[in-house]
Amino acid sequence: MVKILVTGGSGLVGRHLSKYLPDAVYLSSKDADLRSERDVRELFSTKWERVIHLAARVAGILDNRSRPAEFLEDNLLMNTLVMKYARETGVPRLTAVLSTCIFPDVASSYPMTEEMMHDGPPQATNFGYAISKRALAAHIDACNTQYGTSYNYLIPCNLYGEFDKTDPAKSHFVTALITKIIKAERDGSDHITLLGSGKPLRQFMHADDLARVIAECAEHDVTQSFNVAVPENLSIRQIAEIALSATGNEGMEIRFDASGPDGQFRKDVSNARMMELLPDFRFTGLAEGIHRVYSYYKANYKE
Ligand code: NAP
Repeated sequence: MVKILVTGGSGLVGRHLSKYLPDAVYLSSKDADLRSERDVRELFSTKWERVIHLAARVAGILDNRSRPAEFLEDNLLMNTLVMKYARETGVPRLTAVLSTCIFPDVASSYPMTEEMMHDGPPQATNFGYAISKRALAAHIDACNTQYGTSYNYLIPCNLYGEFDKTDPAKSHFVTALITKIIKAERDGSDHITLLGSGKPLRQFMHADDLARVIAECAEHDVTQSFNVAVPENLSIRQIAEIALSATGNEGMEIRFDASGPDGQFRKDVSNARMMELLPDFRFTGLAEGIHRVYSYYKANYKE
């Protein structure tokens, strides 16, 4: 049987992936702290056929902005050690997950293609996280060039889904939006308040879609690196309107707290390379995905 190791297996993406690759070994930070060389060395005393590297220190804009050094250091350590031991122990295949945050804050054209990753500095609010992920891409490309490995990386857009964090400092926008809607319903409130202006544009994908892409790469031995993103690039306001409609709350008002940060204005990426490789892939529609996640948090969300 093929032995697959999934780092970050207890997170949002890992828990969705376990539906599609049930025989893989899913790790959390309690099983091994990937910042510790001793833990990583021990982990790779098993001979893995494939590593899917999801583990990362991930959070929302507030946490990223206030702790840039920690995000840079933790992610550089984890990525470097996993890459070093995977290559040195001869792991034949490795797929790492990056993020569209790594792209330039302002690009010469949109949607951005994979080649544009290093065209300019990433956005200031998640600089440390973004640079650590760019370094991982460079590390994978360098190993493929120098050692002839067939490692690859996927660059997903923003995610949401069941099993996401709901702590306001750590949660991602759509999950935070859904929990705000549920809280407003419980409180009998007629509005939700969102940080920022509502104008930035975002591609939001259900984490289950990314999990299916990762599983397809493993099943069909895809070794190219590519963006994984829905084609729709919507404003925060439009996403909030879709969420209110998908949850039966059309009458609820959306208020914006302009003292909150907007983050990057747009960072939409092209999925053309992905669709060439996986032409039959179908994304979950945003309204359908939000409805599913809303039903999940309605049953599971406690403040
Ligand atoms: P997540 O829910 O925050 O989960 C992070 C995972 O990494 C958890 O399993 C966590 O273990 C593990 N981890 C953190 N620090 C660790 C350490 N020091 N040692 C070992 N494991 C550690 O993340 P996710 O949303 O599933 O993200 C998965 C990947 O997709 C990440 O690489 C992320 O950068 C990327 N990504 C995410 C998004 C998004 O919107 N969520 C968008 C684009 C890309 P514990 O459970 O024990 O803490």
